[in-house]
Amino acid sequence: RQKKDKLGVALVGLGYYSTDLLAPALQQTKNCYLAGIVTGTPAKAEAWKKKYNIPDKNIYNYQTFDQVANNPDIDVIYVVLPPSMHKEYVIRAANAGKHVWCEKPMAISAGECGAMIDACKKNKRSLAIGYRLQHEPNTQEYRKLVKQNKLGKVLKASCGAGYVENRTDHWKQNKALGGGVLYDMGVYAIQGSRLGTGLEPVGVMTAKTSTNRPQIYKNGLDETTTATLAFPGGIMVDIKTSFGENINYLNINCDKGEIKVAPYQAYAGVIADSPLGQINHPYTVPWQQAKQMDDDATSIIQEKPMLVPGEEGLRDIRIVEAIYKSAATGRPVEI
Ligand code: NDP
Repeated sequence: RQKKDKLGVALVGLGYYSTDLLAPALQQTKNCYLAGIVTGTPAKAEAWKKKYNIPDKNIYNYQTFDQVANNPDIDVIYVVLPPSMHKEYVIRAANAGKHVWCEKPMAISAGECGAMIDACKKNKRSLAIGYRLQHEPNTQEYRKLVKQNKLGKVLKASCGAGYVENRTDHWKQNKALGGGVLYDMGVYAIQGSRLGTGLEPVGVMTAKTSTNRPQIYKNGLDETTTATLAFPGGIMVDIKTSFGENINYLNINCDKGEIKVAPYQAYAGVIADSPLGQINHPYTVPWQQAKQMDDDATSIIQEKPMLVPGEEGLRDIRIVEAIYKSAATGRPVEI
């Protein structure tokens, strides 16, 4: 295998995120570039080919995808499909000998996440999850305040991640495709609880799923989910996620004051206020996605561990499963 200083990335699934954020970001990246695409929609293949000057030999559909194994232009496969499809495409990519980036939520069960991690290990390929905030400088800086106990110990925290989702027949409303708000936006709230405390939860104290639109969120699929997560030392974190409400905050109560991050998750403009001052490094969209992909490409080139490896996605899916279990049984669940 020849050493490269710039990796070729192929995006799998040319929906909203690939089209509006990742492809534009790949025009800004320094250590990787948009080399190929995998799509089930021929018209998109045609449009992307023209717009981004992608050669025919680097364009695949879901049937021809495995032939990417023979394509030296493509080093990394970035899976940007509905969550129920992540496992299959991550494993096929790893078996084709490619490094893999996979969007959040990593998959729909911890078992699937484990199989994805194993496939990448077996093929000696890197696996990164698309938690862009972990690459984001304002997020990195408030996490440092917590880690270094700058405001004393964390006492409690709360995190909310949600927006008004007006679509009615998208995969987000389809359980089989990985729908449900806890998978989609809930993983941000779960990340907030973990990044905000710098700790791993030990249990779900209580959880509740609900919907105000049962004709859209059918058969108990969650439009809104709330939970209280227990962390070591008795720290409790309340999380809320919703497709019916615009919420976007992380509040971290410490001995010597509060860190308030709002918006907590955004493509730009993440701001953290605390008695120590404001954290607000500015940048514009889609710099965040470019930073994430450049960081991950650099780690691959330098043969270093990924900043956000598969194990990090797995942790959150374990918590998702525990929250759903607690909501279904009405009891606390250990993690
Ligand atoms: P979209 O629905 O907009 O796009 C998904 C694409 O997947 C489709 O356009 C299609 O592409 C392909 N696809 C293949 N099979 C199916 C199927 N059965 N149903 C629907 N689509 C199918 O989704 P998003 O782009 O919003 O989300 C994709 C992933 O990215 C998700 O995991 C999501 O959570 C994540 N995401 C992450 C964000 C972040 O900030 N990190 C932000 C937004 C999304 P084609 O026609 O090319 O085959």
